[in-house]
Amino acid sequence: MQTHLSESARHLARAEEAESILRSCVHCGFCTATCPTYQLLGDELDGPRGRIYLIKQVLEGEPVTASTQLHLDRCLTCRNCETTCPSGVKYHDLLDIGRAVVDQQVPRPLGQRLLREGLRAVVPHPALFKALTRTGQVLRPLLPAGLKAKLPARVADPGQRPAPRHTRRVLLLEGCVQPALSPNTNAAAARLLDRLGISVEAVRQAGCCGAVDYHLNAQEQGLQRARHNIDAWWPAIEAGAEALVVTASGCGAFVHEYGHLLEKDPSYAAKAARVSALARDLVEVLRDEPVEQLGLCAEQRLAFHCPCTLQHALKLGGAVEALLVRLGFTLTPVPDGHLCCGSAGTYSLTQPALSRQLRDNRLNALESGKPQVIATANIGCQTHLDGAGRTPVRHWIEIVDAALNQEL
Ligand code: SF4
Ligand code: SF4
Repeated sequence: MQTHLSESARHLARAEEAESILRSCVHCGFCTATCPTYQLLGDELDGPRGRIYLIKQVLEGEPVTASTQLHLDRCLTCRNCETTCPSGVKYHDLLDIGRAVVDQQVPRPLGQRLLREGLRAVVPHPALFKALTRTGQVLRPLLPAGLKAKLPARVADPGQRPAPRHTRRVLLLEGCVQPALSPNTNAAAARLLDRLGISVEAVRQAGCCGAVDYHLNAQEQGLQRARHNIDAWWPAIEAGAEALVVTASGCGAFVHEYGHLLEKDPSYAAKAARVSALARDLVEVLRDEPVEQLGLCAEQRLAFHCPCTLQHALKLGGAVEALLVRLGFTLTPVPDGHLCCGSAGTYSLTQPALSRQLRDNRLNALESGKPQVIATANIGCQTHLDGAGRTPVRHWIEIVDAALNQEL
């Protein structure tokens, strides 16, 4: 696509990148049909091609309005369009650049600012988030339905984590909301890795991966969190940790971006690239191990909800499903498995109506094969889908751990 950036856009730190992405789009529109927001709203401007066009106009100096901002806000950043695109357009990078420019030019109403600031003040802080979650659970019966759906009815006991004893060592990203909403996920991962001869090294100083700030358009704060984590992990990486394991694909997708997003930071570029190269979703580690030897007796029928970050960002669609089958589980068919559940980070709070519609559509598809439980690979999708109070939704590693301990 022909592009002529305005004088001010030429001075952006990522001007060259934006221009190159815009030029790579041939405007064919193949992506539009697979975009969840286009499917719901039927407006070209709520699909990837329309959004790319809006960002092009913004960067070419055309007037920016609240309507431009709304169409960009409605994007889930699910990256389904990137999977569909035959030209390899890096849509999510362009969206990050476009959103930052639009937010500088269009002030948000007070309510939106308070919500976004509030989310950034709470979500990336594990201790504060945990304290508020526990208070919310005590008051659960008194809460309105919308808020109740955001809190798990029950938090599974995480049980013991094995002490490090093997030569093979990995790091495990603890994250920000997962320790409060599903502490058993990482504990179950540590137990299974231990059975396979891999020990998990805890690095308590690391925190939120930075995605929450970054995707709420506080991009520099998001990158600061990335730098902080790199510093926290670095001694263990230098000491020979073989991987940085991530059990939440949303966080994993962002850690994979560290190298790209910090490539112009001379103090962190090399370390960030190394961290991104070491980052592995849990399934990438386990699929290379002799899991059949675990002798698991799996009798449950599962539907797997593959998070967008796992299939469209990390390109690991089908990997968890294949592992679960190797372990002996029966998977039920899931129509339209490429579509987003509407969780999308903080989207369920910033765009609640669209998010709910997407969730209900996805649950209908997931439940169509009559599974006993829905498995997934990202805490955001897990909480969002489970909040509907229909078929229970758990991280797949918890289901595997429970089957190994014969708790099913
Ligand atoms: S993003 Fe890709 S699929 Fe969509 S219009 Fe551009 S080239 Fe076509
Ligand atoms: S990221 Fe998802 S919601 Fe956004 S334009 Fe692409 S397909 Fe549509």
